[in-house]
Amino acid sequence: MTSLNDLPLRDDLRGREPYGAPQLDVPYALNTNENPYPPSERLVKAIGEAAMGVAGTLNRYPDRDAVALRADLAAFLNTDTPAAGLTVERVWAANGSNEIIQQILQAFGGPGRTALGFEPSYSMHPIITAVSGTRWVNAFRDEDFGLEPERAVAAVEEHRPDVVFLTSPNNPTGTALPLDAIKAVLAAAPGVVVVDEAYAEFRRAGTPSALTLLDGHPRLIVTRTMSKAFAMAGARLGYLAADPAVIEALLLVRLPYHLSAVTQAVARTALAHGEELLGGVEALRRERDAVVGWLRAEGFRVADSDANFVLFGTFPDRRKVWEGLLGRGVLIREVGPPEWLRVSVGTPGEMAAFRTALQQVRGGTTPRTPPAGFAGNSEESL
Ligand SMILES: *Cc1c(COP(=O)(O)O)cnc(C)c1O
Repeated sequence: MTSLNDLPLRDDLRGREPYGAPQLDVPYALNTNENPYPPSERLVKAIGEAAMGVAGTLNRYPDRDAVALRADLAAFLNTDTPAAGLTVERVWAANGSNEIIQQILQAFGGPGRTALGFEPSYSMHPIITAVSGTRWVNAFRDEDFGLEPERAVAAVEEHRPDVVFLTSPNNPTGTALPLDAIKAVLAAAPGVVVVDEAYAEFRRAGTPSALTLLDGHPRLIVTRTMSKAFAMAGARLGYLAADPAVIEALLLVRLPYHLSAVTQAVARTALAHGEELLGGVEALRRERDAVVGWLRAEGFRVADSDANFVLFGTFPDRRKVWEGLLGRGVLIREVGPPEWLRVSVGTPGEMAAFRTALQQVRGGTTPRTPPAGFAGNSEESL
């Protein structure tokens, strides 16, 4: 049998582990920040009809530039942030914002180039960076998971990165960045600045989006996704807003026809039902604030969250707590700084199960019936 080591694999890929948030069949999956509310029956039907609508033309390639979808995404962003004034030439879409990030690195990173981020943050930024042959530099976030503008600028000036990643609200901490920090980095950065706003729709009232900075900042790229608030993780649709020249650059590296006709049709249908899909966001924010309050009342340390997850701790042995919860059917994420855990915000019922399980784990009670088959591994990513 051939092993990986026998293959003429790129040297820089040797010894790497594939990305892997555990995908386990558990009663309470609170580990990948999905929206817990599935599409309504009405939307399921509409999506089916949309897929049927393109099925008869699947012998042909799809619209390579996804123009109609990008126009819909621009219209959505303008309702989210009216000041953005976006148009189709300033919006680009791909199969999840991970593919967007990959295209950005293919165009602006690469061998001999550097990308810089502030960890703890989204683990795919350094992973996609490395796979693109780009050097990764981590300049840490502050103790409170924020980012002091002067320190951020100093890191940018020291490393002169071709690509800077700022995640706001940040995963896994939930921290939103003030625009001042983003503006300071934009002023200092010699390359492109990516503000990853995967969780923007969950931000608390009064927290501005970096979309408002696009005018006058031609090297700013704001990325978004339909995987989180939009409840469409399975559809794989990520997008960005930037100067039209940035999108011209991405056209050089994207694969032709990267977005299937089915993806485009499904995403457009979801956007047309945006009000329904985003209808759960308000409830999730309330549930988030409630779980933050509850955890604090229980004496835990909790990071302020503008997202649909909460980072809490601190645990001298977080693996034990993670396993204890899993033994009770509650799967959360072992991610971020070593003594912390992250729980995604689910339905009220799911959060009640989380609270009960956490109290039991803390109290040292043994689980009633450990569900079978939770051998689960846990990895330091997403
Ligand atoms: C989930 C997530 C994404 C990407 O999600 P896609 O499903 O690929 O769109 C991007 N950035 C952050 C910070 C995330 O947490």
